[in-house]
Amino acid sequence: MSDFDIIVIGSGPAGQKAAVQASKAGKRVALVERDALLGGACVHRGTIPSKTLRENALRVNNMRKNAALFRFKLSEDLEMATLIDRLDDVMKSHDEYMRRQIDRNAIKRIHGRARFLSPNEVEVTSVRGEKQVLATDYVVIATGSFPRKPDHAPIDHENIFDSDSVLSMLYLPKSLAVLGGGVIASEYASIFQALGVRVIMIDRYPRPLGFLDKDLTDNFVNSFQDMGGVWMGDSVVKRVYFDGVNDVITELEDGRTIITQKLLCAAGRVANVKDLDIVNAGLELDERGVIPVDDQLRTRVPNIFAAGDVIGPPSLASASMEQGRRAACNAIGLEVGSMPEMIPVGIYGVPELSSVGMSEQEARKAHGKIIVGRAPFAEIARGHISGNQDGMLKLVCDGEGRRLLGVQIVGEEATELIHIGQMALLSKSDVDIFVESIFNFPTLAEAYRVAALAVIGQRARRNSVY
Ligand SMILES: Cc1cc2nc3c(=O)[nH]c(=O)nc-3n(C[C@H](O)[C@H](O)[C@H](O)COP(=O)(O)OP(=O)(O)OC[C@H]3O[C@@H](n4cnc5c(N)ncnc54)[C@H](O)[C@@H]3O)c2cc1C
Repeated sequence: MSDFDIIVIGSGPAGQKAAVQASKAGKRVALVERDALLGGACVHRGTIPSKTLRENALRVNNMRKNAALFRFKLSEDLEMATLIDRLDDVMKSHDEYMRRQIDRNAIKRIHGRARFLSPNEVEVTSVRGEKQVLATDYVVIATGSFPRKPDHAPIDHENIFDSDSVLSMLYLPKSLAVLGGGVIASEYASIFQALGVRVIMIDRYPRPLGFLDKDLTDNFVNSFQDMGGVWMGDSVVKRVYFDGVNDVITELEDGRTIITQKLLCAAGRVANVKDLDIVNAGLELDERGVIPVDDQLRTRVPNIFAAGDVIGPPSLASASMEQGRRAACNAIGLEVGSMPEMIPVGIYGVPELSSVGMSEQEARKAHGKIIVGRAPFAEIARGHISGNQDGMLKLVCDGEGRRLLGVQIVGEEATELIHIGQMALLSKSDVDIFVESIFNFPTLAEAYRVAALAVIGQRARRNSVY
């Protein structure tokens, strides 16, 4: 008989939910984690640390906006530790909460590095080097991802950082080059700029976050530049190096040179399977560098499932949790439908951006004619009151101006506000629901009403009916 029904490798959002789900179904579950603390990249190097820094960046930014009122000036050589002061507490309490949850569910916690010996045997090496071999019926691989290391940017974690090490900087730098235009690059670039660092964002594409509507990314770039940041699109990096004294030099293919005190390379992430010996289980990565799975999250080896960043996009903690839960359900034969297609995207830049459903471009492609309604936060009372005038909510509807197809928001609270739109989309509501319901006043949510009125106005003009 096997030692366990399921072994889950990795305690990030995907692994945690997989383990809890399997044990709640009465299975014998082991959760293997090589780090001392539970929680994965999400808790220790990704979501939570970056959002903690962001919280403080927003405070600093707000105080700076009211500098005359409060005679506020950020001290020189500000230590990073000051800016992520609550992080240790947040991480420890998360670890504590997870430990209690795992113990309560009678999941066997194993601290060590896992590798496959075969599809049904996992060897775990403890920190002291002791090895144990565990036999199992099923495995869920939830080992996450790590930053891609491009050849032209030698990351030394002192001057040239990646997203796993950027918060280990001792002091807030005076200037920072950020290579990349994706989610992590955009978040960190705007957070550091809000803190007063002179940030230059460099990317080969014409605009950052190219998967979002141009309205949103234009607003993001404008806000970033208004804070003093520089966006350099259409720029290909040839070489990056530390000059051996003070600065990092970034050479572009067109001959330009950028000099900054530090550099963050955010060039995407790759599946973390380096210790796992997946070939022993009969697995291999696909051409995108991730473990391929079917819509049940099953790998090509029938008793092995995978979830979270290790299977590739959307590479979000939110999606990873649900994938982990579903992978466990599918493994043990519990009924679950297929993964929801509509996954909201939240980008915690300064300002925030969020989107759910179809973008304007996708809707145009799928439906031909569409109607779009916009509500600038500058037209919303709460925006005036809270100083959040720099934002916009956009509703994308079908050609009749009735069925909601997508919602995009840029501005503070975007990642919270989006869920109202998500619920309307999931319940297949007409856009009229936003006009026929009463919203609290004043709220930013009122933007839904304003954007819906804009849609209904166009509908009336287009169809000569109201
Ligand atoms: C800077 C940054 C900001 C982010 N912000 C957000 C955000 O705001 N919202 C959001 O939804 N997502 C965000 N993400 C993404 C999110 O962090 C990831 O999608 C999520 O952590 C993936 O979860 P996971 O369980 O797949 O893997 P991880 O969280 O990476 O966990 C994998 C775990 O597996 C362990 N492990 C690996 N190999 C082994 C082995 N051989 N044996 C034992 N243990 C092993 C690792 O130690 C780790 O603890 C962010 C990511 C980064 C980098």
